[in-house]
This record gives sequence, structure tokens and C-alpha cells, in this order.
Amino acid sequence: MKWAEVSVRTSHEAMDLVASLMEDVGASGVVMDDPALVNEYIRSGKWDFKDMTERRDATFVTVKSYLPMDDSLTGKIDTIRVGMLRLLRNGVDTSPADLWKREVDDEDWANEWKKYFHTEKIGERIVIVPTWESYEANDGEIVLRLDPGAAFGTGTHPTTAMCLRALERLVKPDMETIDIGTGSGVLAIAAAKLGASRVTAVDYSETAVKVARENVEQNGVAGVVKTGASDLLKNVAADKKVMLITANLIADLIIRLFDEDNGENGLSAHLAAGGKLLASGIITSRADEVKDAAEKHGYKITEQQEDKDWVMMIIERQ
Ligand code: SAH
Repeated sequence: MKWAEVSVRTSHEAMDLVASLMEDVGASGVVMDDPALVNEYIRSGKWDFKDMTERRDATFVTVKSYLPMDDSLTGKIDTIRVGMLRLLRNGVDTSPADLWKREVDDEDWANEWKKYFHTEKIGERIVIVPTWESYEANDGEIVLRLDPGAAFGTGTHPTTAMCLRALERLVKPDMETIDIGTGSGVLAIAAAKLGASRVTAVDYSETAVKVARENVEQNGVAGVVKTGASDLLKNVAADKKVMLITANLIADLIIRLFDEDNGENGLSAHLAAGGKLLASGIITSRADEVKDAAEKHGYKITEQQEDKDWVMMIIERQ
């Protein structure tokens, strides 16, 4: 089968938003070619590089998506372009915003993103290892074996990495947790490996749920992590309140968690008093909006961290 590789060159600020536009039109895989990140990895010596050299121009990122070569392609590309104009109108700097396409064979792209995913230690104990690499764990390390496939979550994205580091501190033995927008399942699996006794992991994308389930099994935590499809917390049974919920989403969705809480199947039905919501994926410019929404509903921000334009907040229910 022939595929169109549709690429957009854009800013670091806009890259995840552009990736979402591509996912919204049904792209089967989205790959970030971020020279700045690659250079950072090469310089840090974290990757065992033989086949990559430092890139000279690291100002922009190329976001690549893969769409079937059929009659719907032109319409989808137009939708991506319109979405980019909307971002621009909303103050997101998408420049240079060049878009181009080329034809590729199926096999060419399915493994493209694997070039950018390698074993990496995050925090004090967690090591993320792609399923196709081998790794000998050192004492005290917690190894997560992941194949994110078409789902988001290699664990190395700043928004996820901040959550993983926080989980190392926050998960207590036998704790029960919920992971909203689980993607590859990375945060749910980490919670289980850090000692949680029950983790409910949901995502509204069926693909993500499938990928998460495979990763959960691969890591031997299927007895602890239950996966399912849900729009935010809607399908999660409110049988018992938990002390920790992870939500690496985007600002709008985190605000929805507060604003749509009707007491029945919303945040307050799931998070106990004194419990913490670990909210991430918030772009710096929107952190105040999230804070306002949380405070308006009586929650308190007890910690805030920032990494490369992304904010993570620990929000406590009073
Ligand atoms: N938890 C992973 C993935 C985060 S990406 C990590 O930390 O790396 C955000 C995920 O949220 C995506 O998998 C996306 O499918 C999911 N998502 C987006 N909107 C959602 C919604 N309304 N309800 C549940 N999940 C949602």
C-alpha cells in the first residue's frame, strides 16, 4: 500500500499541536524529527550513536505524519492547513509552517520513529527500555519495557518525564491510582512497578487502549493495571476514591476535569480529600488558566515544575 508522508516544519512551541492536527485527520503515526533533541542526546552521550551526526540547524522541528494515498488525502491536508491557521490566529507561532508531502511504501515509515527512541534513565530509578533493545538493570532500578507503537508515550517527552519523576516520590505501597489518557500505558505501568496495588488506566483512543494493554502484559503488571476506553473519567466506576490520579493531557482537557465535574463521575467522585492530581502536558502560556480552574473549584496547586515550555502541576483536593 502507498502512503503519503505529510511533513510540516514548525516551531518547538507548536510541534505537539501540529501533531494533534495530524492525528485528528486520522494519521496512522506521527513522528517528531527534532534536531535540537537529537543533538542534546548525542552530546549527553546517552545514546550509543553510530549512525547519527549532530545537525547544524536545530531551530525547527519536522513533524511527519502518514496518511493513506487516496481520494481523501487532499481534504485532509487542507484540514491540517486550516488547523495551522487557527493556531496562528490563537497566538501560537507555527512558523515557518512549510508543508510538503511525498509518497512512501508501507514498510518505510512503520519503523521510522524507532530511530528516536532509545534506552533512557528517567529520575532516580526508572529506566525506559524499548522492547527491541536489551538492558541489564542495576540494583534498585525499575525497568519499563515499552513499545509505544501508534500511541503516545515513550516516557522521554518532557511532560511524561516530569510525571515519572514525581511518581517516584508520590506512589506509596498499596496505593490505588487512576491514569487518564494513558497512551502507551507508561505512567500506569510505572505506578504499578513503584508499588501501587490497583491502577485504572483509560484513554479515549481505542488504539491507545490496545497498545497500553500490550505494554501492561509485557511488563508483567496485568494483575494490577486495568485498561479501558473512556472520555476522561466518564467510564471509570466511582466505587472507591483514590489518593493519586495522573493526567498527562493538555490544558483544555485538564480544565474540563474541573469544569465538567458534576460530582457523579467527575474528578471529585474519584479523588479523595487530600488526594493529588498530577496534571501535565500544560503549555506554559496556559498554566494560569489551569490554576484558575483548579482554584475556582477549591483545589490547591502544591507544586509546579517546568521543562521546555511544558508545565506539570501537583493539584491537591482540599
Ligand atoms: N500518559 C502518556 C500519554 C499522554 S498523551 C504519557 O504520559 O506519555 C495524552 C493521551 O490522552 C493520548 O493517548 C490521548 O489519546 C489521550 N486523550 C486525549 N483526549 C482524551 C480524553 N478526552 N479522554 C481520555 N483520554 C484522552
